[in-house]
Amino acid sequence: MKLQAWALAGAVVVGTFVSGVAGANSDKAAKHAGKATAKVVDAARIQAADTEPGSWMSTGRTYGEQRFSPLTQINADNVGKLGLAWTYRLDVDRATEGTPIVVDGIMYVTSAFSIVTALDPVSGKQLWKYDPKVSRDRDRDGCCDVANRGVAVWQGRVYVGAYDGRLIALDAKTGRKVWITDTVIDHNRSYTVTGAPRIVKGRVIIGNGGAELGVRGYVSAYDAKTGKLDWRFFTVPGDPKLPPENKAMEMAQKTWFGDTYWKQGGGGTPWDSMAYDPDLDLLYVGTGNGSMWNRGVRSEDHGDNLFLSSIVALKPETGEYVWHYQTTPGDSWDYTATQSIILADLTINGEVRKVLMQAPKNAFFYVIDRKTGELLSAEKYVNANWASKVDLKTGRPVESASADWSQKAQLVIPGPLGGHNWQPMSFSPQTGLVYIPTQDAPAVYTPNKDAKYGGKGTWNLGMMPISLPEDPAQLKPLQDMYKGHLVAWDPVAQKAVWTQDYVTIWNGGTLATAGNLVFQGTADGRFVAYAADKGTKLWETAANSGVMAGPISYEINGEQYVTVLAGWGGAFPLALGALSAPAKVKPEARVLTYKIGASGSLPPPNLTPVKQPEPPALIADAATVDAGRDLYNSYCGMCHGPSAMSGGVIPDLRYLTPEKHAMFAGILAGAYARKGMPAFADVLKPADVEAIHQYLIKRAQDLKKELAATPVAATQ
Ligand code: CA
Repeated sequence: MKLQAWALAGAVVVGTFVSGVAGANSDKAAKHAGKATAKVVDAARIQAADTEPGSWMSTGRTYGEQRFSPLTQINADNVGKLGLAWTYRLDVDRATEGTPIVVDGIMYVTSAFSIVTALDPVSGKQLWKYDPKVSRDRDRDGCCDVANRGVAVWQGRVYVGAYDGRLIALDAKTGRKVWITDTVIDHNRSYTVTGAPRIVKGRVIIGNGGAELGVRGYVSAYDAKTGKLDWRFFTVPGDPKLPPENKAMEMAQKTWFGDTYWKQGGGGTPWDSMAYDPDLDLLYVGTGNGSMWNRGVRSEDHGDNLFLSSIVALKPETGEYVWHYQTTPGDSWDYTATQSIILADLTINGEVRKVLMQAPKNAFFYVIDRKTGELLSAEKYVNANWASKVDLKTGRPVESASADWSQKAQLVIPGPLGGHNWQPMSFSPQTGLVYIPTQDAPAVYTPNKDAKYGGKGTWNLGMMPISLPEDPAQLKPLQDMYKGHLVAWDPVAQKAVWTQDYVTIWNGGTLATAGNLVFQGTADGRFVAYAADKGTKLWETAANSGVMAGPISYEINGEQYVTVLAGWGGAFPLALGALSAPAKVKPEARVLTYKIGASGSLPPPNLTPVKQPEPPALIADAATVDAGRDLYNSYCGMCHGPSAMSGGVIPDLRYLTPEKHAMFAGILAGAYARKGMPAFADVLKPADVEAIHQYLIKRAQDLKKELAATPVAATQ
């Protein structure tokens, strides 16, 4: 093992670990790749993706990220004969958000904790597996589960961004490590990587997450061959005491006020969406919310705070700023613009326009000229009360008074889960429709004007902790408000053409195909095909788990397949899952692959009801329980669920066994760190831990009464 390390400007040290054996092999592979006969993914091949429709070479299939398969063997006439060809059980039953890649006879999938697995796409047989061994107690460093959304393949290598911020290059055939680079500039802050890398002009482009926990967002480009940092674009300004780092930061800094944003990180993390237009040679990056959420605390309650919640167009060779469009100026609602970016050519008012489309969390569907950044149109794709419309002259939203929670609590639609989250949308050039997984997910924002940055691994929103009603009768109306939809959206007319409704939110990403089909998994555990033009449901099958990920389609030896990753997790199940229809199935993460005429079957779903162990008697006084409630909602609720109601992925603490009650303080001190339960000794004193424990005993007693009143099967 040879260690190479070099210092970069700004005293950022990036270590590159090159394995001697794998390095030598990769050099040979690189030479091999240079020959005309070598079959590897490169720019020419991705740009000509439509000439090999059997492959799915990059996360959105093409650089334009339409998630449209030109394959037609599976179509609206025969989709009813679709059956399960094979399944592969993934390692971690947590956030399963990845889009597979299929190219040159290998399928690459990722699971939670950034584990990469190569499979035979015909049989599902495992070819190799690479576990980057992300420390299992990293949950505290991210907002929304230990997700990974997929790999990139390029010149015989596979690239994955690990949850802990490492960018890793693997040999595509063997899974052997070629290089590792650390993309995190400050390990005293909670940075994570969950998005799929994109590769443009030999550069691996990767962003990061962490804006809930107080970080400064940036997107970086690394040399695909060596892992060396090529350029970095920060999405928000740096230290206001120092001169801006470049012209873009000079522009941005004028839109921020005070210096608290710098202590809080600023945010703007580009944690998911990107797209690339080879003709215009522009890379598009979607940026995230502010750190803190509350602009009143973050930026003296004014300023647009560039480049939060924006689409930024950059030169892919230099990272140089070209244009930006900010969807939510001065964002205070976690309205990220990190949702899918799709490029298409649309005929608008008789003229063919090169557009970029996005349905960010803020509920408006944007059509933007992707050469100039000019806003062409914006309409609501789902109900929203925070703004009445977007003014096309100024490009700015017309905000409602009710959206301003800087002084008092407000019910805002949508809330931080958004009208559409990371679940990828797709576009069919045949129907001209965009298929958006949308949701009604309002939230109450309550300001905390005294909020201060609390250090690594703590949430920094500038609002009071999220809580839910502990009385089931009060919870029910909230559950009834949380509904999901699949909306087929006409981006030219800016209106819905058809809609399918779901019992709960957080349904899966979509795939459109030339067979006049749209595929989508559902939160209630199904995988469904609709007619792309009319929305008629044509086929569905049980997935035995909630499904969130985006499906793909590919063809090998003349047979077309459809694949989706089943599995549950992410922001909603962890932080507000109690608002979903009660989880009846224990989530299990699998690769599911279908083809016409196949008749495979899944193992029976895990319906084992969990019996509530007898909770200890509540001995604490009301003041201790109240203190425990606040502490629980501040430090525990974003994973175990506010008010001790889990969404079914992370254990429901109302079901603790007597043994776990007995070792409660030890668990919070790190006894289960290897199992994924981080230590909290740095932020919780023994008296705090005891108050949280007493609150949980109170909630366990509440549940005992509820179960006695309604003796249905208890679920966890
Ligand atoms: Ca966020």
